[in-house]
Amino acid sequence: MAGAICPKCGEMTLWQKPFGKECSRCGYRVYRSINSGKGGKGSRCPLCGKYTFFDGRCSSCGAHE
Ligand SMILES: [Zn+2]
Ligand SMILES: [Zn+2]
Repeated sequence: MAGAICPKCGEMTLWQKPFGKECSRCGYRVYRSINSGKGGKGSRCPLCGKYTFFDGRCSSCGAHE
């Protein structure tokens, strides 16, 4: 099982974390920019159940109205 490609070190060691993604090799972090930086929680997504539903689209699973 391989992670996503890290933009910093180029290895496939970028893993999904609760806050976004983190490279286990170099420590590079990508923070999830939910709600376009507006802050706060989104609406509850009817599909995945996460509070990441913004402007009619879920940033977690991609569902949209
Ligand atoms: Zn890295
Ligand atoms: Zn969703």
